[in-house]
Amino acid sequence: MKSNNFGIAIHGGAGTISKSSMTSEKEKAYSDALALALDEGYNALENGASSLDAVEIAVSHLEDSPLFNAGKGSVYNAQGKHEMDASIMDGSNLEGGAVAAVELVKNPIRLARKVLHHSDHILLIGEGASIFAKQHQTVFENEAYFHDDFRYAQWQKIKDSDSFQLDHSDKPKQYLGTVGAVALDPNGNLAAATSTGGMTNKKYGRVGDSPIIGAGTYANNKTCAVSCTGSGEYLMRCMTAYDISALMEYQGLTLAEAGEKAIKETLLKLGGDGGVVSIDYQGNIAMPFNCDGMYRASRNQDHRLIKIYK
Ligand code: ASP
Repeated sequence: MKSNNFGIAIHGGAGTISKSSMTSEKEKAYSDALALALDEGYNALENGASSLDAVEIAVSHLEDSPLFNAGKGSVYNAQGKHEMDASIMDGSNLEGGAVAAVELVKNPIRLARKVLHHSDHILLIGEGASIFAKQHQTVFENEAYFHDDFRYAQWQKIKDSDSFQLDHSDKPKQYLGTVGAVALDPNGNLAAATSTGGMTNKKYGRVGDSPIIGAGTYANNKTCAVSCTGSGEYLMRCMTAYDISALMEYQGLTLAEAGEKAIKETLLKLGGDGGVVSIDYQGNIAMPFNCDGMYRASRNQDHRLIKIYK
């Protein structure tokens, strides 16, 4: 049965985002980019698209914006390249698709969706993912497309060290810019999608939480849909996206309670920073994070919200 209860939430990464380091122009640019992705995803839902379509649409808009660390504008790894990760999950049947360490793919989230539908595997990486991409009409871009002056400067500062950092953060070991979306459609189906360039100066071949089903992305119609951002090495150890779903399923917590526990207790205790956007099977939305800020936005019939700081 169709319902009027649908909604979407998106993020553009979490980390050290201080108001003092923002200009009003920059703030407006981020808000506008979030608004575009949010509204395109929401309008798709309103026009009958599935949650899977809506999260793919929202995330690919964020990938196309150089402001975020995904697709165009992805961070530089230790070799000065862009290796991107993405995953998508369908809460109606628990099917997932993901790619890791892919290069030159314009929209890694679209490739992840193709893996979901056209492969018997869930996660394809590197060269193998490229071969699959070429067999499935994927749009590639050249190196120059992915370049961004700000990200290049970020990398130059730490490239001779062993440290790596989250995008949108000035201090080493701080992240940001990964993008993600979760949605509930009028048929009661949940979906989640996440896409990232990873962390500045990450080692060649490093893969974080974003393309790992259960760590960075999870959706289950019985509980919720979750997309994470933050320190991948910690999110993977906490299985944060699945943790939130499991807390709801096995402990009967609400979405908000489960998110608070997973992000502000479990992840934080281990030393990880980050946050999630999440939506449950009833359309409740929660966007908890344990750091200074998270680019985030949400929309349903009752509200439309775009926020950056705490
Ligand atoms: N979670 C991402 C990663 O570790 C980074 C981020 O969220 O910005 O690859």
